[in-house]
Order: sequence, then structure tokens, then C-alpha cells
Amino acid sequence: MPPASVLNILQRLQQAGHEALLAGGCVRDHLMGRQPKDYDVATSAKPDEVQRLFRGARAVGEHFGVIVVPAPAQNQEGGQDWIEVATFRCDGPYLDGRHPQEVSFSDAKHDAQRRDFTVNGLFWDPLRDEIIDHVEGRADLHQGLLRAIGEASQRFAEDKLRLLRALRFATTLGFRIEQKTWQALVAHAAEISCVSAERIRDELCRLLTHPNRLRGFDLLCESGLMQAVLPEIMALRGVEQPPQWHPEGDVFVHTRLMLGALQPEAHLPLILAVLLHDIAKPATFSRDEDGRIRFHGHDKLGAQMAAEILRRLRFDNETITQVCAMVEAHMIFKDVQKMRQSTLRRFMARETHAMELELHRVDCLCSNGLLDNHRFLLAKAEEFAHQPLLPAPWLNGRDLMALGHQPGPMLGALLRRLHDAQLEGLIENREQAIEWLNKQPQSD
Ligand code: ATP
Ligand code: MG
Repeated sequence: MPPASVLNILQRLQQAGHEALLAGGCVRDHLMGRQPKDYDVATSAKPDEVQRLFRGARAVGEHFGVIVVPAPAQNQEGGQDWIEVATFRCDGPYLDGRHPQEVSFSDAKHDAQRRDFTVNGLFWDPLRDEIIDHVEGRADLHQGLLRAIGEASQRFAEDKLRLLRALRFATTLGFRIEQKTWQALVAHAAEISCVSAERIRDELCRLLTHPNRLRGFDLLCESGLMQAVLPEIMALRGVEQPPQWHPEGDVFVHTRLMLGALQPEAHLPLILAVLLHDIAKPATFSRDEDGRIRFHGHDKLGAQMAAEILRRLRFDNETITQVCAMVEAHMIFKDVQKMRQSTLRRFMARETHAMELELHRVDCLCSNGLLDNHRFLLAKAEEFAHQPLLPAPWLNGRDLMALGHQPGPMLGALLRRLHDAQLEGLIENREQAIEWLNKQPQSD
């Protein structure tokens, strides 16, 4: 059952003589036995009537007749949620490929018809325990079918965001896409470029962070939407790799397999790093005289390309920094067993290390299968676990100056070597640090 605060809103509207129903995603989720993210109310009451009935109600999408009504929050901390109450409406013509030029208020039947997919077009009156289905959404829900309401081609032409929403719902609900809907989606795929980068990014993120992300990835590629939003991924197709390292196939096949090998709950930066870790392989491909394939510098160029791609999609700086760090570092893992302890500790102390380790694991699993570096790092993590990876230096710059060292770049270098020696396990206390210093050749 929906929370009491939502039921109260429905009851109040109905008692005032209006029709009031739950609409859209919450009805779909309820019928699927899932916990709805939020509850949306649709009503015959006009926006000003809604505002008169609820104290503190605010108009948010006046143009569309949407009012938000405050309700006690459902979480433990208390506070306040805002429930959207929208007047039944019909959408006028769409001119910008995203929003209707105008709307007019109407009834539940027309309101269902303006919605995107049949499973999103259902209403629910929890007070009367009744589902109202003007779009045959219930049958599609039972069959696990995503179908555009009305004429699919027209619906995608009106609002191009629906193209990506279709793939996101197919992915997160695990639904098949009905044939006509699919054909229309493929026909209109290139038009996604009308939609703002922010909205594209949000839909991509919701699709990619879902455990069913591999299905979403395949749908993106097969529909042509990947070509429109991330052509760099499609360019990985057919890029040959050395078969002894990559028996699985080309760069696209490898990247796709990795996406499928991630843990269901993988974090977004890791997922993006998987997608982009080899993004510069097409640009850096070369073949030696003896026929050996190389991708010289694909990690560095890859980090640059990843930054450009993620900036284009308006990702936040923190995500971009993390993804680029992972892309740039992904080849270092082959050297970890040869590293000095100080270098290794610094490598392992980086903020992205846990995600990188996972990137490396799936990189190996989906190519040569050799996990020795991964195992080595896990063992090292255990070995180092009893103290911080980077313990504070025994002496700082001020200490060194008090000991007679001159300020300047030499001092910085000396401090770094001193800390290295500490990280190597050669210095265990302040006295040993001073001893170590006294043994260094005097440079000034
Ligand atoms: P979720 O909240 O889980 O993402 P949802 O179905 O609730 O899924 P919302 O974006 O919250 O999606 O939208 C609520 C409802 O509004 C949808 O179920 C659908 O009926 C309608 N809707 C949303 N966006 C569109 C759109 N672009 N075109 C047509 N109808 C839409
Ligand atoms: Mg919703």
C-alpha cells in the first residue's frame, strides 16, 4: 500500500469531488511487486483547485499543471517529501523534439494516451483497490513487453528522450521491446542528438548502473543509439588485438565481455572506466614489421579521450577525474610485482585503487585469464593492512630546517627520499630517520 500521506492526498481530492488516481511508474512498480521510487498523483482537479485544497502546495510546472504537495517524509530522519499532483492533460504539438508547445486539461483517458509506454500508462485507485487501464498496459506488463502508446514512430518523433527511456526501461524492468516500437526506435535513433547532454547522461547512467547493464549495452549498440551518443564505442568493433593476450576477439568484444563480468552493484566510475579503458586502441593501433600488434600510449591517450567524452556528456569533475585516473593507470598493473615497496604503497594508496583493482580483474578475466597480479595485490593489501599504506613521515620540512637543512627544491627531494625509505620499511622511528639523514651526502 502507498504511504498514508499519499492516501490522504487522494482522499482529500476525491472528497472534494474530483477524480484522483496514482499514475505512471508507481502503478507499474506496484503491480510488479517492486517498491516504487515515488508516487505521482493525477487528478481531474485544476491546478488552482489543488493549491486551494493543500496548504503549502506549490506550482512547479505551471505550464503543465503540476503542483507539489508537502507530505511527511517516509524515511527515518523525518522531514518532508513533495508529492507531485498533476492535472489530467493532453499534450499539444511538439516542436523542439522534447516538450509539447502547450498542454490542455483533459480526462484520465487522454492523460494515459500522452504517456510514453503502455506499462507507464496505468492508473491505480488504492482507496477503491482498482486499476484503471486505458492503454492495455496490464497485458503488456504481464508479458514483460515494452510498447509505445499509440503510433510508436510518432511518439519517438515527438519527444526524442523516449528513445533512451525505452532502452532504460527494457533494461531495468527486464522487458522485451515490442516489434513496432523497436522498428520505430531504430528508425529514429539518430535524432537523440536533439536531447540535452544532461538528460542523455542521466538515462545512460540509470541503464549502466543497473545489474542488467549488458542487455542495455547490447540494445544501445543494436538500436543505433550508441552510435549517436558514444560513437567511440562503436569504433572499437573490428579492432584486432594480439591473439596470445586477447583470445576473446577484438576490442569491442573484450570491452563488452568486461561490462558483463562486473559485479551487479558496481559503481558508476568503474563502469565508465570499463567502457572507456581501451577507447584509444583504434587511434593507436600499429603493426610491427614482424606482424605484432601494438597500441602504444593507448592508456594516456585513452585518459584524454575519456575526459573529452565525459565532458561532452556533462559528467561532474569528480567522476571525470576518477575515470581518467583509472584509464590512465590500467596498464601499470602488469608491473606491480616488480615495483619497489614505496612505489607499490603509493600506487595502492590512490583513491581509485579499489575500483582499479576490479577493472584489472575483469580485464584479465575477459582476456588471457591470468590473475597473478591481482592475487599479488590482494596478498599485499593483507600484508599492509595493520598500518596505513602511507604512514605520516617521521620528519617534516620544519624538522629538517631545524636540523640545519636549507629550504628549497633540494629539501623537497630529500623529504621524498626519506619518506620512501620509511615506506620501504628501512626507518621505523624518528631516531632512525635522523640517523638516515646524517648518512646522506651533504648537498649544500
Ligand atoms: P522511474 O521514476 O522509475 O524512472 P517512471 O515511469 O515513474 O519511472 P518518470 O520519469 O518518473 O518515470 O515519469 C512518470 C510518468 O510520467 C511515466 O511513468 C510516464 O507515464 C510519464 N512520462 C515521463 N516522461 C515521459 C515522456 N518523456 N513522455 C511521455 N510520458 C512520460
Ligand atoms: Mg517516477
